[in-house]
Amino acid sequence: MAKRVVVVGSANMDLVFRTERFPEPGETVHGLSFETFPGGKGANQAVAIGKLGGDCLFVGKVGNDAFGDELARSLSASGVDVSRILRTSECKTGVASIDVDATGQNRIIVISGANSQLTAKEAIEAAEGFDGSEVTLLQHETPAETVAACIEEASKKCTVILNPAPAGPIDESLFPHIAFITPNESEAKALTGIDIVDESSCEKATDWFHDRGLQGVVITLGAKGCFVSSGRVRQHVESLPVYAVDTTAAGDAFNGALALFLSEGRDLLNSVQLANCVGALSVTKHGAQASMPTLSELRQFAGPLY
Ligand code: ADP
Repeated sequence: MAKRVVVVGSANMDLVFRTERFPEPGETVHGLSFETFPGGKGANQAVAIGKLGGDCLFVGKVGNDAFGDELARSLSASGVDVSRILRTSECKTGVASIDVDATGQNRIIVISGANSQLTAKEAIEAAEGFDGSEVTLLQHETPAETVAACIEEASKKCTVILNPAPAGPIDESLFPHIAFITPNESEAKALTGIDIVDESSCEKATDWFHDRGLQGVVITLGAKGCFVSSGRVRQHVESLPVYAVDTTAAGDAFNGALALFLSEGRDLLNSVQLANCVGALSVTKHGAQASMPTLSELRQFAGPLY
């Protein structure tokens, strides 16, 4: 049977307005361009897996509207199974309104919309009780009670990865059910209170999680790669030198890839090394879902690591 990864998470439509300068309150300005991009951490991570050829089921909720249709199409076009996606007429598909000025500064308003309506019961049902799933990957863009219930249920059947993004409190009673937690530097600091500045602070932060019953910790460090710590491996994994043009969704690329490679039965270090390659490749292209590499791009880039 194929090794399935279930991603439980958000799907948003990003609405990007480019403008010379931001309007003052009460002022109207003519902008330069408007584009829409499928996003949401859950959907981005599912697309990363689908584009790498993985068997991925996406569990999330969108509205009964055109954005919901478009998000489902985008996931499906990347090879993700969207047969269990949930739709609601009670509210709209989640959106992020992103204003970008000529200096590259941005201002973002996120409306969670349908994502905030995903209940634990329907998520677990849509995931078929996590039967047949090798790995389940979750983030923090759906309700905390849903994430918690899915972690508890999924951990009875498969490996659970929590990408604690965006940063937010986690009930420590969940830690023993999570096989791997994958904060970036700022999320690691928000959770542990430890400033991630060097290898020794990475060790301290990973120990903070281990002391609370969490077995595997991967702190992503942007252009510096990542730090991985579990019972068997504890080391910094250097990033791969690339020409970065857009770091949007690098963490999503990394997390999707990590889930996929662990589901294939690769060991943690090799999975992290390959996820590091996928993260690096994603920053060489613009966009979120559009920047996720294919399996053949990864093979070429990763060489003997693959
Ligand atoms: P997030 O997007 O969640 O903040 P990071 O910025 O830590 O996550 O990036 C996730 C991963 O993507 C890193 O661990 C690394 O593997 C890769 N990555 C990010 N930025 C770069 C970069 N400039 N060069 C190479 N790899 C990168």
